[in-house]
Amino acid sequence: MSRRIAVLSEEVANQIAAGEVVERPASIVKELVENAIDAGGRDIRVEIEKGGCRSIRVSDNGSGIEREDVALVFERHATSKIVRIDDIYDAGSFGFRGEAMASIASVARVELLTRRADDLAGTRALVEAGTISEIAPAGLPPGTQITVTELFANVPARRKFLKTEATEQSACLDAVTRLALAHPEIRFSVRADGRVVFAAPAAAGVADRVAMILGKDFTDHRLTIAENKENIELRGFVSTPAWTKSNSKSIFWFVNSRFIRDNSMMHALLAAYRQVIEPRRFPAAVLFLRLPGEEVDINVHPAKLEVRFKNSRGVYDLVSGAVLRALAGAQASRDAVAYRLAPREAASASSGFWRSSPYRASSDRPQDVFSRQNLQQAIGGDLFARAGEPDVPSHVEDASCEERITFDHRTYLGQFAGTYLVFGSPGGLMLLDQHAAHERILLERLKASEMERAASQPLLMPEVVTLTPAQISLLEEALPLLAGIGLELDIFGRDAVVVKAMPDALPNVEPRRLVSDLVDQLSDGQAVPSLTERKEKILASLACHAAIKANAALSSSEVAALCRDLEKTPFNATCPHGRPIRVQFTLYEIERLFKRK
Ligand code: ADP
Ligand code: MG
Repeated sequence: MSRRIAVLSEEVANQIAAGEVVERPASIVKELVENAIDAGGRDIRVEIEKGGCRSIRVSDNGSGIEREDVALVFERHATSKIVRIDDIYDAGSFGFRGEAMASIASVARVELLTRRADDLAGTRALVEAGTISEIAPAGLPPGTQITVTELFANVPARRKFLKTEATEQSACLDAVTRLALAHPEIRFSVRADGRVVFAAPAAAGVADRVAMILGKDFTDHRLTIAENKENIELRGFVSTPAWTKSNSKSIFWFVNSRFIRDNSMMHALLAAYRQVIEPRRFPAAVLFLRLPGEEVDINVHPAKLEVRFKNSRGVYDLVSGAVLRALAGAQASRDAVAYRLAPREAASASSGFWRSSPYRASSDRPQDVFSRQNLQQAIGGDLFARAGEPDVPSHVEDASCEERITFDHRTYLGQFAGTYLVFGSPGGLMLLDQHAAHERILLERLKASEMERAASQPLLMPEVVTLTPAQISLLEEALPLLAGIGLELDIFGRDAVVVKAMPDALPNVEPRRLVSDLVDQLSDGQAVPSLTERKEKILASLACHAAIKANAALSSSEVAALCRDLEKTPFNATCPHGRPIRVQFTLYEIERLFKRK
């Protein structure tokens, strides 16, 4: 079938272009707030309903728009910000493509109210399905207010891609947070369904704004970066190795005040931390790179989320060098502290990351000489009884059919690679992943405790954990579930939660770290999982956090306790992430390897 070529109608062309700029409510919030900043607004208010899916309103006290220009706002390639292509290199503005308003108007209903300070009357314009249906005089204070409703009403396929309201709201808050970090002089506020969920009064400088947004925990654990290399400048803050996050969402990069993503800078940062933090943990960082306009191309991504550097090697080296120096400085002062402590404390102060676990807690000497009696007594079984004894007929263990792990006829032989517990039996060898095993035990305990309204321990001193407003809005949805398993949290203001009680099912975890990791996980959400899936994810994330880590030495009694708990646990052969908890080698397989069979 061959069709003739036809030029698309302007409406369809705009909708296609909108696909790149307007992905979800948060992209609209970003474009509108950027326009408000470009217009010189010093007080920017965002109001959203139902995560922005029902309505988004952004008001500013900036320059306003002349009535004659109002119609042009919604034309594609109409902008007041550049004239020549070279202008984009030194445009101090966010916008220059003249695309956002046209795109938004093509997929939603837009009402614009605007007035310049010198004009007696303002203007109201209404745009429906990309067409201006009304332009009339209106009274209002100087500035601009844009209201977007009926988002994607005319492109139902796009609506389907929207996630839960909580997720969309959190993405809107993330968008404002990023802009607020780079513009401390501007006051920002966000209301969601009538409630103030974000408020950043004008701040004296970036340091104050960062403290306001990332909270006290980060402020207490931040290292300052201020370095130059030729014409590139890097300023900002990174966390000390003692304060890590479970994902990279607390890392913010700005290039000439614009929030961007950049793999190469990210790599430079993470590589610098690699030696000092645990694998799969991330630092927090807010870093501002400033360089002359002609050194960086900002026109390589429709939403301008990526940039290209002329001297990318120089940028990499600057980031990597500056972060390494900051970390080395922190290390030097930490060693100085450690040196003043007694030798034993000094060793543990600098060795780092061990957090207590119930198994760990059962022995204060994890490197215990292995004691058979201990383990045997503890497990109450015959874990050692038949070590090396040939009286049980050797049979081929069928690893794939055995659905539960039991420790009958198994002998604990030791820990391998800091992570795998090795057991021998007359039928073969079994390797048990200590983290995965413990994770499964804790998950099943949490699930059971949810059914029966779990016991919890009230904290003597309730702990306050500072979070970002975006994180708070995600956490809110999970509060009833968390209370159900005994983790009692109260939202406290707009940027903190108070941990009042900890679940009995998760002994020996630090409340602050548990909550902060949980929130990181919640904001990792991809597609809209069902309620049950979300529940499962939350419980799994708590279990993962509280489980003993890989690379932790376990004493014999700790191993025994772990085995005993695992035996009692349902689904004990796979971890909550679906990875196996144990791997087995049959005696037959081993003998084959030695060419005995
Ligand atoms: P761009 O920002 O790339 O110029 P937009 O489509 O976002 O393109 O906006 C088009 C034009 O509308 C802007 O160049 C600006 O002149 C005007 N405009 C949009 N929002 C505002 C606002 N809040 N205050 C003043 N002018 C605005
Ligand atoms: Mg714009």
